[in-house]
Amino acid sequence: FSEVDQAAASVGGEWENVRALLGGKGANLADMTRIEVPVPPGFTITTRACNAYLASGGIFPEGMWDQVLQAVAGLEKESGKRFGDRQNPLLVSCRSGARFSMPGMMDTVLNIGLNDDTARGLVQLTGNERFVYDSYRRLIQMFGSVVSGIPDAVFERQMDECRSRAGVDTDAELSADDLKGLTDAFKRIYRRHTTFPFPGEPREQLKMATEAVFKSWNGKRAVDYRNASAIPHDLGTAVNIVTMVFGNAGAGSLTGVALTRNGTTGENRIEGDFLKNAQGEDVVAGIRQTNDLSELKDEMPDIYAQFEQIARRLETHYREMQDVEFTVENGRLWMLQTRSGKRTARAAVRIAVEMAEAGLITREEAILRVTPEQVDFFLHPQFDSQAKAVAAAGGALLARGLNVSPGAAVGLVAFDADLAEMWAREEGKAVIMVRPETKPDDVHGMLAAQGILTSRGGRTSHAALVARQFGKPAVVGVSELKIDLGKRLMTIGDTTIKEGDWISLDGTAGEVYSGKIDTIVPDIMDPWLIKLLGWADGCRRLGIWTNADNPDDARRARTYGAEGIGLCRTEHMFFEARRLPFLHKMIMSDLPVERREALDALLPFQREDFAGLFRAMDGLPVITRLIDPPLHEFLPSHVDLSHDLTDLKIRLKHADTLEKVDTLLQQINEKTKVLKRVESLHESNPMLGLRGVRLGIQIPELTTMQVRAIFEAACMVAKEGGAVHPEIMIPLTSHVNELKSQRDILEVEAQTVMAEQGIEIDYKFGTMIEIPRAALTAHQMAEHAQFFSFGTNDLTQTTFGISRDDAEAGFLIRYMSTGILPENPFATIDRDGVGQLMALCLEKARSVNPDLECGICGEHAGDPQSIAFCHQIGLTYVSCSPYRVPVARLAAAQAAL
Ligand code: ADP
Ligand code: MG
Ligand code: MG
Repeated sequence: FSEVDQAAASVGGEWENVRALLGGKGANLADMTRIEVPVPPGFTITTRACNAYLASGGIFPEGMWDQVLQAVAGLEKESGKRFGDRQNPLLVSCRSGARFSMPGMMDTVLNIGLNDDTARGLVQLTGNERFVYDSYRRLIQMFGSVVSGIPDAVFERQMDECRSRAGVDTDAELSADDLKGLTDAFKRIYRRHTTFPFPGEPREQLKMATEAVFKSWNGKRAVDYRNASAIPHDLGTAVNIVTMVFGNAGAGSLTGVALTRNGTTGENRIEGDFLKNAQGEDVVAGIRQTNDLSELKDEMPDIYAQFEQIARRLETHYREMQDVEFTVENGRLWMLQTRSGKRTARAAVRIAVEMAEAGLITREEAILRVTPEQVDFFLHPQFDSQAKAVAAAGGALLARGLNVSPGAAVGLVAFDADLAEMWAREEGKAVIMVRPETKPDDVHGMLAAQGILTSRGGRTSHAALVARQFGKPAVVGVSELKIDLGKRLMTIGDTTIKEGDWISLDGTAGEVYSGKIDTIVPDIMDPWLIKLLGWADGCRRLGIWTNADNPDDARRARTYGAEGIGLCRTEHMFFEARRLPFLHKMIMSDLPVERREALDALLPFQREDFAGLFRAMDGLPVITRLIDPPLHEFLPSHVDLSHDLTDLKIRLKHADTLEKVDTLLQQINEKTKVLKRVESLHESNPMLGLRGVRLGIQIPELTTMQVRAIFEAACMVAKEGGAVHPEIMIPLTSHVNELKSQRDILEVEAQTVMAEQGIEIDYKFGTMIEIPRAALTAHQMAEHAQFFSFGTNDLTQTTFGISRDDAEAGFLIRYMSTGILPENPFATIDRDGVGQLMALCLEKARSVNPDLECGICGEHAGDPQSIAFCHQIGLTYVSCSPYRVPVARLAAAQAAL
């Protein structure tokens, strides 16, 4: 490790390249050695060697093994021990370690170098027979499962038998003789399963272990994990050969793992678990109940102080929260690994903010360290506190455990990963995966599950780590939970829960409930998030507006930081029960006066809607889009009407009083009229039919009514003392003449209202750009519009000529899975096509009107990649749904940095 500079020089010295060559574990072991953190001597076989080995179908690259033997000789010199020596044997571990951390996904073998002779020698040297045979049986067990593929359960069963024969509960209580017996039993298992004796030659052991670690890069768990984390498959793993230090050497020895800050909440306090008289893998495996690191402070204050100091040093060195492995051998502390720690979204935000405040990183770095997905987490469901209280009062609170990964999860209990995956993926069920503990083989089930519950394990257990990384709510270490995998049920106290029953997990509080509890999206924002987003606001150039159709959404969006409404869809207002009849009447009317009456009745409703929005936005711009969908969408469907008519006609046949006949005839008459109108409104391609501005041109009374409502509301709120900035948006224009003709009429109405009210309002008229022709003629459009807004949902449909509703459920899936389209163009802006149109449009428009306000109100406005594009081409703002506003604030800042 101390010669890392040579390796670094060979790849140009860039730290990322060093990591790629040596793997994260190897690079950091070398780095820690360099900054004089105590690390046992060792060396790294590169990822390049691994890739060459795998590519050649299993042959070490030329000269590699000689170099390994040379390096082993170096370790011998440094330690004064010799590999295979009967008096003072050197033991090493053979550890996987890829460029990106994949905790527990690949293999490691400890205690290499032990055989019957060296074991005897080590007993003489240490006088500790128990320790030696504990190490020896571990070697055979790990070697057996990693190198020779013997199922671990075979060894575990032998251990179980040994414990019950000895009448003890834990491995720690086994005697030297027990362990000696186990070692022999393990050797027999090894021979039985492989037909070969366990290899005693240390160099042979090392060689076989190295090959096994290389191969573990392509093991199923590793491949699954890489697929889930989008890690490339061609990186390969390095192999680290590290001199063994022994956490199982007696009472003054222990092993542990720790995070330099709390990985769940982000609090700046070391947290971790340790086990006395044990070896590393015991801690994460959840075999024994671990001790909390705080106990070490009392038991070994000096060691703890040294550990704390190293932890701080590592944080300062890496400028990042660290996840470390350490071992104490007879009162001496050794660090065995450091890497940046996995954390929840909540912790990520708090750590970034606190590190910036402490001057460890800059504010810009803090902004760049938090991902938009992590911000999104804050807007995800949590349990409704009232629903939770009701459930608890009803006795549904079953148990408490460790709250290792926050959030609420509700699902059906599944006791194994395969079932969890099948229920979730194939049957679309919500599942909670319940296990005594989880192993790397369980990851596919954990990913498919809503949440994870285990009866064993600590804060740094496998289950906790994976859950945090993938944002799955999890509760672990619920010791009252007794799981019977055979009977497929679990009991907590006197409650029995069967596989397939509903449970609810509160990962934030660490609680387990029976049944289903309602979830809500949290309203209150985290103080660190508020701070971070405040910093982001100072960095971004894009405005963040919101799409809101009612005052509640508008208010919510404002609390999330929205700076305007970029899209209010007026038609949503019509669908309300009290208004729909008037709209029907308007659509059905044959005479202008009837139409007038219906519209007059609708006006006050719309006026109230707009007044509410203006009040909620208090001085911020509000863009209202005039009616957009084709009118038939407001009428019952043809199928429903025909069905009703048939029904009425049957009832007419059986009507027994004149009165009934009369009403039925009347109803039939009305329905027939509606059906006729539906038929007359029928279009083969309604998406491309009479809608948007075309509707406004066809029925100008409708849009003028809307404009009147907007201006009456604006005048009213202005008179109340509020500031109002209405912007009226004309949808679906493709020709400048459409815009001109519609705007002329509407502007007259606006002026009329303001004259009537005796007040001047600051307003704008603009148009949506959602048809390629509009984008291409933007210089003409810009002469008659005071603002543009890209409706990228329609613009994507019209540019691709794809109907979204049909395609997303159909051929688009295939297009994406086969790579015909790299991404769903309805989720992320297609830069080459739709994006190019947008850029061109903006260029043309701004050549006529350099200050033209131009935003985007399609769903892309909430997508971080699309937001980056909007920033690039110089849009004024993005307008997304209220829940995406915080995400957009961060993404816009990241785009600007
Ligand atoms: P993983 O990547 O799965 O954590 P590691 O290679 O880190 O695998 O090793 C597994 C466990 O063995 C860890 O707890 C580690 O600290 C411990 N370990 C590895 N090498 C040594 C060593 N030389 N001495 C003592 N413990 C070790
Ligand atoms: Mg490790
Ligand atoms: Mg549209």
